[in-house]
Amino acid sequence: MKKVLVCKETIEAETRVALIPDDIKRLTGMGFEFTVVSGAGLKSGIADSEYEAAGAKIVKSEEEGLKDAEIIVRILKPASTKGMNPGSLHLSYLDPFNEKALLREFASSNVQAVSLEMIPRTTLAQKMDVQSSQTSLAGYVAVLNAAARQTKILPMMVTPAGTINPARVFIIGVGVAGLQAIATAKRLGARVDAFDTRPVVEEQVKSLGANFVKIDLGEMGQTEQGYAKELTPEQVEKQREGQAKVCEKSDIIITTAKVFGRKAPVLIKKDVLDRMRPGTIVVDMAVSTGGNVEGSSPDREVVTDNGVIILPGDMLERQVPRDASKMLSGNIYAFLTHFYNKESKEFEVRLEDEIMKGCLITKDGAIIHERFKEA
Ligand code: NAD
Repeated sequence: MKKVLVCKETIEAETRVALIPDDIKRLTGMGFEFTVVSGAGLKSGIADSEYEAAGAKIVKSEEEGLKDAEIIVRILKPASTKGMNPGSLHLSYLDPFNEKALLREFASSNVQAVSLEMIPRTTLAQKMDVQSSQTSLAGYVAVLNAAARQTKILPMMVTPAGTINPARVFIIGVGVAGLQAIATAKRLGARVDAFDTRPVVEEQVKSLGANFVKIDLGEMGQTEQGYAKELTPEQVEKQREGQAKVCEKSDIIITTAKVFGRKAPVLIKKDVLDRMRPGTIVVDMAVSTGGNVEGSSPDREVVTDNGVIILPGDMLERQVPRDASKMLSGNIYAFLTHFYNKESKEFEVRLEDEIMKGCLITKDGAIIHERFKEA
């Protein structure tokens, strides 16, 4: 397999593209052949001519490109598998826990479907980890959006007319997005507080020059993969109480607290929102998995009765598509090269490889992934 089709995203809100010309050039040098649907890179600032200069052929439509495609890459799940060649490999986000019918369609069309979100988050697969590459950009954007909407500046300023104190930013949940949010807020001059239930995070927060908020929740910890363990309802209540005072004092709050495979905990409820100053900006980055903030919305701004502004916090990486596409393309480049056989000069589906085993959902007309077999 070496003939790759790069699709144009069909959803209006999607601004990214799955592969950029630099990576196509490198992969072409190895023996891959590329076809790109015209306009695929436009929203990321990439013209068709740049793809052509990198060695790709441009086609007018996806339908045309699918005809001889052996590997199909795109970001979002496809509407259907229509036109895809039997035996071909399709690489994209698939939302496999919620898209059982699509998984069955991939199986019945005999298309091998790789789910980008299922690539194991191991050290070896770090270069292919789309979640990390995209959410770190989202953490950066969250701070910029909040800063642009806040009526107060972030840095301290000493002027003859008076002194402006730095803004206070509170980051709840310090994983990939939270760390980038802390770093960004610090660079803009804010005073930053942060909290996470994983004890190892305290050191990381301090090393970025932020203050770690101490809340004693008793037994906490993390899974072997580095994810937070789910708190008991009593612990969540304790956390809400413990962090309420910091929320009241903050000008910007960014929440990123997620628990892998479960609904996100509601960490800021109406009673605390009611006690916050009008004009406080809250960005709920956990909104797609249930939300950390009561009343938050994935795609629109919400203003509470007392004037707290809750900004949408989902898919913020789409606001910086040029770099988000670069990172995503780097992830896909790493995937394609990992399974490239130097002798045959072909991409190989090696099922014995832990990475492939983790993310390949369908093969030979069946759903083969253990977690989705029952679909
Ligand atoms: P995530 O998106 O699942 O969660 C975000 C953060 O929310 C985490 O730091 C989590 O501890 C925190 N959280 C959960 N419940 C909370 C609560 N009640 N209050 C406050 N915070 C809460 O996680 P993520 O950002 O994708 O990654 C988390 C960690 O996983 C990383 O820091 C890293 O250690 C590990 N990781 C490893 C790899 C790898 O090895 N390739 C890749 C990515 C992440």
